[in-house]
This record gives sequence, C-alpha cells and structure tokens, in this order.
Amino acid sequence: MKSHYRVVVIGGGIVGSSVLYHLTRHGWNDVALIERAELTAGSTWHAAAGFHALNDDPNIAALQGYTIRLYEEIERESGQSVGMHMTGGVSLATSDERWQMLKAERAMYETMEMQTTLVSPEEIRAMCPLVDPIGLKGGLFDAHEGYVDAHGTTHAFAIAARKRGAEIILRNRVLELQQRADGSWDLITEKGNINALHVVNAAGLWARRVGRMVGVELPVVPMSHHYLVTDDVPLLASLEREFVSVTDLEGFTYLQPLGKGAVLGVYERNPQHWSPDGAAWDYGMDLLPPDVERILPELEIGYARFPALAEVGIKRWVNGAFTFTPDGNPLVGPVPGKRNYWVACGCMGGFSQGGAIGLTLAQWMIHGDPGHDIFGMDVARYGAFAAQENYLRDMTRQFYARRFVISYPNEELPAGRPLKTSTVHDRLAADGARFGVSWGMETPQFFAPQRDDFIENLTVRRSNAHEFVGDEVRATRTAAGMFDASTYARYEVSGPGAEAWLDRLLSSRLPAEGRVRLAPMLGHGGKLMGDLTVSRLAADRFWLIGSYYLQEWHGRWFRDLLPKNGVTLKNLSDSWSGFALSGPLSRDIVQPLLGRDLANAAFPFLSCAEVDLGFSKAVLARLSLTGELGYEIYVPAPAQPALCDALMQHGRGLGLRHIGNRALDSLRLEKSFGIWSTEFTQSITPGMCGLDRHVAFDKADFIGRDGVLRERDAPSSRVLVTLAIDAAPGKTQDADPSGFEPVKLDGRLVGYTTSGAYGHWVRQSLALAYVDREVVADPPPLTVDVVGEAHPACILERPAWDARGERMRG
Ligand SMILES: Cc1cc2nc3c(=O)[nH]c(=O)nc-3n(C[C@H](O)[C@H](O)[C@H](O)COP(=O)(O)OP(=O)(O)OC[C@H]3O[C@@H](n4cnc5c(N)ncnc54)[C@H](O)[C@@H]3O)c2cc1C
Repeated sequence: MKSHYRVVVIGGGIVGSSVLYHLTRHGWNDVALIERAELTAGSTWHAAAGFHALNDDPNIAALQGYTIRLYEEIERESGQSVGMHMTGGVSLATSDERWQMLKAERAMYETMEMQTTLVSPEEIRAMCPLVDPIGLKGGLFDAHEGYVDAHGTTHAFAIAARKRGAEIILRNRVLELQQRADGSWDLITEKGNINALHVVNAAGLWARRVGRMVGVELPVVPMSHHYLVTDDVPLLASLEREFVSVTDLEGFTYLQPLGKGAVLGVYERNPQHWSPDGAAWDYGMDLLPPDVERILPELEIGYARFPALAEVGIKRWVNGAFTFTPDGNPLVGPVPGKRNYWVACGCMGGFSQGGAIGLTLAQWMIHGDPGHDIFGMDVARYGAFAAQENYLRDMTRQFYARRFVISYPNEELPAGRPLKTSTVHDRLAADGARFGVSWGMETPQFFAPQRDDFIENLTVRRSNAHEFVGDEVRATRTAAGMFDASTYARYEVSGPGAEAWLDRLLSSRLPAEGRVRLAPMLGHGGKLMGDLTVSRLAADRFWLIGSYYLQEWHGRWFRDLLPKNGVTLKNLSDSWSGFALSGPLSRDIVQPLLGRDLANAAFPFLSCAEVDLGFSKAVLARLSLTGELGYEIYVPAPAQPALCDALMQHGRGLGLRHIGNRALDSLRLEKSFGIWSTEFTQSITPGMCGLDRHVAFDKADFIGRDGVLRERDAPSSRVLVTLAIDAAPGKTQDADPSGFEPVKLDGRLVGYTTSGAYGHWVRQSLALAYVDREVVADPPPLTVDVVGEAHPACILERPAWDARGERMRG
C-alpha cells in the first residue's frame, strides 16, 4: 500500500473491480482498490450472475451489450475463467397485451440494431423443456443472455487490472474521508492513511454510508431478493445443451440453468427493504434467512409454469441483499458539489451493467466526458429529494414490485406522490387536471373538465383521453391555452462577468437587452448539453430557461464552469413560476393586465421585459412552443395563483383554457419542434437536430466550438425529420408512435422515431425521427412500426402547421 494514488476505488465487488480495470485500460495506472474484506464480499458473491442486453433505455442497452462482449476479452487478458454460459434468454407473454408489447419491444430493439426474435410456445418449449406452454402466447428471444460465475468474473477484472499496474488492498476498511484544500482526499483506513486525487464510491451495500463520509445522501437502499437452486431435474438429464434462460413476466419469476438443475428467482409483489442505512460495517458474507411465506404467491406461479421443478428437492435457498435506486438504474458519475468524489453504486444488475459502468466512469474521469449519453445512470438525474427515506422506500418498493409488470406510455405511477405541487395545483385540479410527475413536481398531462368520474384507460394505443387532448389543442389554435410552467427550470445569471461567461457557455450569440434567444449549450466535444432559452433583462442580468428535471445535471455543469468572481448564479426554479400562454388571442388576454403596449411593433417576437403585472413584478417573454403567438409570464411563486386568476378572468370568455403536456406534444409536433430528452440529448449534435442554425460559428470561443466546426465540414449521417404516418392498409389508425420505433425503407432500417403524437389540429399522426441523410435528400415512401405493425410514412418537407412561422411572429 502506497501513501498516494491518483484514484482509490472503495469496494471490490463486480462494479468496483470493473472501474479499476477500466481506469488502467484507459491509461491511469496509479490506481488502487480498497476492499473491507475479500473481493465479492458484498452483494456480488451470492448473485445468480445472469446477464442480458435488453433495456428500455437504448443507451443503457448498448452499454449492457458492451458488458457482455467484454467477458471474453477479460477472460483472455486475465487468464481467469469468467464461467461464461451464453444460453440465450426468452421472455414469456401469457396475455394478449404482453404479446403486443413484446412485438413492440422487438421493433424497438431493432432500432438499436439488437436482433431479437418472436418465438411460438412450441419453440419456447423446445428451448426450455421445463416450461409448461399452457396459456403462452409466445415469447421474445435474445441470443445474448446467459450467466457467468460471479466470483470468477470479479476476479478476472481484478487480475487484469493488476496486470496493468493497479493495486488491490484487501481486508482494509476505509473509515473516513477528509478533503484537502487542493481537492484531493485523505482516506483514513484501518491500515493507515492514503491520499488520493479522486475517490470512487463503489461500496455497493455500504454506498450510503460511504456517501455520508463526505456529507452526501445517495438515493440508494438495499432490498432483499430470493432465488432457490433445485436438485438435478430428470427432464434435463438427457439434454445435450443447457436450456435457454426464461423470464416469466406475468409470473414474476426467472429461471436459469445450473448444471442439471435450475435456479428459480422471484421478483415478488410484496418486496422487503433491508438495512436502509446500508449494511453494518461488520456484515459478513452472510445470507438473510429465507422468507418463503412472503414470496409464496409468486413461487406458486413459478412452480405452475415450470412443473418439473416440483418433482425435485431444493438444494439451497439464497436470500441476499442488493441495492436499488428509485428507477432501478445505477448512480454513476461525479457527485454534484463534491469535487473529485465519484460514485459507481446502486447497481442492481452488476453482471449486465458492471462493465459498462467501469467504462463510463473511467472515460469520464480521464477524458472529462462519459463518452455516451448516460443520463439514465447519471447520479445527477436526481436531486436531494430522492434520498429522503420514505420517498426512497416508496419508489424502490414500487420499482421492485413492478419489475416485470407492463408499463404503459400513458401510465402515471403513484409512488412518492405528491412530493411537490405548484402554487396553482388546486386551481388546475379544479379544472380537471390529471397529473404526471417531473422531478417530484406534479405536472398536468391533460384536463378532463367536469368529469370527476373519468378514469383514463392504460394502453399503448390512443386512450379515452384522446379527445380531451384534442380539445386543448383546438382551443390553443383558435383562442389560447395556458400551461403551468412550474416544470421549467429558471436560472438568473448576473454580475460584471455574466456576459463573458454566458458567451462561452452558450453556442449562440447572446441576445441584446430586452431580447430572447434559443441557445444550444454544448459539451466539450460539441454534442448537446441543453436547449436553453436566454433572456437578457439588463446588460449584466440574464435568465436561462431549461428543463425542471435537469436542475442538478445542469447545476453541476454550470458550477464546474463558473468563475470564482464576477458571476452570480441563482436557481429560481421553485421560487418563481408562471405560465406559458399561447394562441391567437393571447395578446388580447395579457394586454389588459399590463401597463405596456404588447403590439407587434412595441413587443415583437423574442422580446423580454420586467413588468408590473397586477400587484406583482413579473418577467415577460414573447415566445412559444406551440407555434402560436405566445408569452411566458413568470412571477414569484406565491403570486402565481393571482396571476392564474387574472389571466382566466380576462381569458375564459375568449376561450382560454388550461392545457397539459400531451396537448403541448401534439402542438409542438405539428410545428416540428424538438424538446430535450427525446429529440435533443447528450448524444446528438446541433447539425443532426437542426439546432446548428442557432450556433454562432463565427464566435471566437465557446464550449464545443471545435466539435461543431468539425461537424460543419463532415455532416452527421442522420438528421431529424418530421414524419406523417398513415394507417396500414386494411387497418384503422388508433395508435401513434411514442419513440424508438424503426423507420424503414423497403424493409431496411434507415432511422428511428424520437417522439410521436396525433396532430389534433392538422388531423395527422406525426413523429419526429432521425433518418439517414441520403434518404432525406429525395424522400421515398417509408414505413414506421407502431405498436409492432408497419405503417406507411412519409417525410414532411416542412412543418405540418404554419411552416413560415407567421402566427408566432404575428
Ligand atoms: C440474491 C441475488 C441475486 C442476484 N442475481 C443477479 C443476477 O442474476 N444478475 C445480476 O446482474 N445481478 C444480480 N444480483 C445483483 C448483484 O449482486 C449486484 O448488482 C452486484 O453485486 C453489485 O455489485 P457492487 O460491486 O456494486 O456491490 P457489492 O458487491 O456490494 O460490493 C461492494 C464492496 O464494497 C466493499 N466496501 C464497502 N464499504 C467499504 C469500505 N468502507 N471500505 C472498503 N471496502 C468497502 C464491500 O465489502 C463490498 O465488497 C443479485 C443480487 C442478489 C442479492
């Protein structure tokens, strides 16, 4: 053990070992791993160690694919067997809905270039003779599933890392972490003190405790999980190869081969947390006592689906603990506000994701960029609210219990709610709002006016709320609609250095005083970091508007780049709020509340001003996401109800109404406007999505400039387009794309959708999609798979509504 390392990884489970390996592989060799006990001594040793590449998040699916491909390589490099069994895996459907869902999933995986196959009950039976095919509709087969040996795989990473120069220090607990003024960390360990520039918390079951060592509460909690190992099953005795792993989605169980027996694991609907603060420091390589009573309902379904298991005994029960986050994805990356403190924890699928987490973190630490869009794993996707104990329990319980349950695109789940409500929540509810949630904030999805009894049906097709959304769209196009903008983030940037800082932060030119601009913010490599709007309220005072759920993520980026002096950054997201109001009559509604002239000549498109509105000061900006004449009006949050009442008092008679997210989606798609997380993400460049028209290429210096200049010379192979989608021949169209559906030309994959909706005003099913550039040049007839069925589609040369943007500017 040396007294100094560049990086110390705390924790020798599958994740910590992979992080260590990847650091050395990417060139940092002055690194060490410190393990409290032995390698694998946390969750890792008792894992069933199954792996799969499939995941709803395509970025995570791609990274899981990387993890699986890596196994062969680390086995070769380390000389240590990982015990690879590439059995293939099949997910079962026992209901029509699930079968339809699997068909849609197969199409989605095709967009990720992952070849999965729909298989019949007979084929499933041939793949795994333990399955009783009664009631089966079919299954989705993926050849890239299987299991490894947990111990061998962890050691393979560790041995390979050691060969590349890393040190592994066992039986040595890290007791404390103290940060020096230079940002490095002193690790107080059982065997003495070490200084490291960077520390990685890969402490698995202890991650929460290792977070607390630096004053951080991580949203991660252990839960218990059971599987059983059977004696040899006679039916398998004559089988020449292992059976295919099976996930019975409706049965809440999974089945894996093990020798001539089987492993049967359960995701029970009544899950249990374990040691919420993290395992005790002296917790050994112990198992929890089996709690068979609690998992009996799911076991019964499992034994009915795999009846041959009942003929043999149970060799052993494994009830162990592993960690969960509110959405089941790991926590990876630099912890906001803690310099040189990184996390790689909260991982519930270490054998599908461990390699990917190591790769991501190593690239991030060494090159300053994770290398992929990993927002779904980024520790900064959560704010402090997510670590609150009751919230965390509620969310993780819901996630665990629903692990195999169908989720519908229009489904709003109940856990952890309500956490935050805007000050106009009750007014919206009284008008029939049905809420979703964004970063803990209740957000209107649609309004069912005067219909207390209305319950939306859960579906992958158009729901019974379709016409309510249509009414909101039509009201906006003919009169005005107003959207509670509580789920926009607002930041004020001020001070003598504000202009210079923002000029470098944003790729666009900065607006003049009293003006607004759409301002793409880029990462160092030239990919998107945000689609902000910037309003200049005074020479040295600006407002940035972004997405509410990106506050921690953007906050980390801002803080990392903020100069020590001269710039003040305030997050006003919760202290200010307001409405985005748009529609041809919106000027008539807002004008009477103001002392200033809103006529086009006096307050043209993309103007902004601080104004008095009623009894409150307000920030007014003229822009809209719907393509209509529109205003964003912000007031201190306690004044939002009064603003709401004043707008409604003037507007209701003119046809003003509240609108929700779904109407906004329909309206923006009619205008071909992209938004963050669907069209705009960390893996997209301005040239791909059209935001390059807002980039000031001639500015001398801004973050990401080299990347966008390179892209200008060598354009990306795919670009964003709008698609109009028609019903397949002989079918009525009752569904719209929702994202990640394949776009094909003569059966060949040429792109994928990012979002879709029915354009209620233009009466057309629409989608935005990234499509091969050569296809766009001379657009041929295409198809889009919607709910697993191919529909004819064509590329629209201009937005479906008001292509010249006259209504917005009028
Ligand atoms: C019953 C069961 C079955 C499972 N089956 C699967 C499966 O089939 N497939 C799959 O992918 N996943 C499975 N998992 C989940 C899998 O086990 C975890 O995803 C994985 O082990 C997490 O690894 P980790 O490295 O993050 O954490 P851990 O394995 O918990 O490792 C953390 C390490 O950090 C060390 N440590 C903590 N604090 C300190 C400190 N202060 N100083 C020094 N060292 C410290 C600990 O001793 C420990 O070794 C299963 C889990 C259970 C419980």
